[in-house]
Amino acid sequence: MHDFDTDGHRARKRFGQNFLSDPNIIRKIIDGIRPQPGELMVEIGPGLGAMTDPLIERLGHLHVVEIDRDLIARLHERYTPAQLTVHEGDALKFDFGSLCAGEEGGVGPRLRIVGNLPYNISTPILFHLAGFADQVKDMTFMLQKEVVMRMVAEPGTEEYGRLSVMLQYRFRMGRLFDVPPGAFRPAPKVMSSIVRMAPLPAEQLGARDEALLGRIVAAAFGQRRKTLRNTLREFIDDAGLQALGIDPGLRGEKLSVEQYVAIANACAGREG
Ligand code: SAM
Repeated sequence: MHDFDTDGHRARKRFGQNFLSDPNIIRKIIDGIRPQPGELMVEIGPGLGAMTDPLIERLGHLHVVEIDRDLIARLHERYTPAQLTVHEGDALKFDFGSLCAGEEGGVGPRLRIVGNLPYNISTPILFHLAGFADQVKDMTFMLQKEVVMRMVAEPGTEEYGRLSVMLQYRFRMGRLFDVPPGAFRPAPKVMSSIVRMAPLPAEQLGARDEALLGRIVAAAFGQRRKTLRNTLREFIDDAGLQALGIDPGLRGEKLSVEQYVAIANACAGREG
């Protein structure tokens, strides 16, 4: 298990480092993002700068969040502060809202987030970023194809789960295209995909208590083989589900996002 030497940098497995090296794929991703001069954008995990270079070229200025100190040193050497603001540290703990300070009262959320995300933290980073949705215009990420398929999955499919419901509740999502392992150095073992996420307007969300929605969805998918009657017992009984037109004998994977919101609101109504 040797780390892989790329451009004089030893790719670190623990930071999920697979660097994009195919210029056609890089161009396709940047074209998909369509960066416009002056936009407020942050890249998670710039690495050796495969996307950073063309992004700065089009935007003028870019923010990045990077955890690897060797890569951070390279970024400081390569770019001026007028081109790049480097936020050193863990993207899982980074306050993305801080980039929007002083932005209120404008034309709506402006922050755009992009990144070829470290695959070892893909699910936690998506949940972390969902917390900043009201400050974000859109997000475009490269992730393992398997994770992207779960994000965009429809009810009744095997891939449909907690990640699908919680992200689709908050974002309009689309899979743009797949990227094969050969586009990276070192090559990962799996296929990747590009996904675009655009936050839905707040008035479309509908859950009166989002934390409760999160708990209900986690319970419904915690034991996938069990029926809603069993998994949601602590939240709602058979009669409550039936009143919403939901068969208590179904499994969690059959319900739409709207049906989960309806359950959460029925429970919130009873509690409050
Ligand atoms: N964007 C580059 C590219 O496309 O070639 C690098 C992508 S590489 C898959 C992931 C990058 O995220 C690496 O630069 C890695 O050091 C960085 N990274 C890993 N974990 C991180 C974390 N928790 N917070 C911020 N950056 C992280």
